Amino acid sequence: MVESAGLPLAEPGLWVERTSATAFPVGRPALFLDRDGTINVDTDYPSDPAEIALRPQMLPVIETANQVGAPVVIVTNQSGIARGYFGWDAFAAVNRGVLDLLARSNAVVDMVLACGYHEKGTGALAVADHPMRKPNPGMLLEAGRRLSLDLERSLIVGDKLADMEAGQRAGLERGWLVDGEGSTMDGLSVLPLRNATDLGGLLTAIRSL
Ligand SMILES: [Mg+2]
Repeated sequence: MVESAGLPLAEPGLWVERTSATAFPVGRPALFLDRDGTINVDTDYPSDPAEIALRPQMLPVIETANQVGAPVVIVTNQSGIARGYFGWDAFAAVNRGVLDLLARSNAVVDMVLACGYHEKGTGALAVADHPMRKPNPGMLLEAGRRLSLDLERSLIVGDKLADMEAGQRAGLERGWLVDGEGSTMDGLSVLPLRNATDLGGLLTAIRSL
């Protein structure tokens, strides 16, 4: 698959893009967000910007993080890249669509990391258990290095246990699982995010960052 030049690829299967001009002091905690199924409705390997529909729950979440100066960082597995379902150009278009829809509601994302490695991939992207692919913590650690984050105080929201596990392995203490069950995962408290009460708890946690 031919890729356009100028894409923010740190390596063949790792997208790292600074998406705001906001400067953050050293040692801030971040709000890490999964993308598909968390910010936007998961349509199974979304590759067309016209397919994107936001889940409205994340708008106040991102806005609150913006208000308190906590960097908002998307960390998304994109095995569709490895599998050859679409290329980084299509990822770029979908991702731009997501960010533009958020921006219309004054919700700003500060950094996006995407992992295109998968064991069922081809060529350089065929890597099993790549350190950047969730549940491994590589994308969170990379963002931590680039933004000088306090990972322990950072929060993660996702719709899969792999999101929570990536948070736990990056040293976070709190995660919210969309439509999931609460649990404790070896140092990480997993809280459910199912209703307005759960959302209120998450917003309170973000306000105290
Ligand atoms: Mg997801």
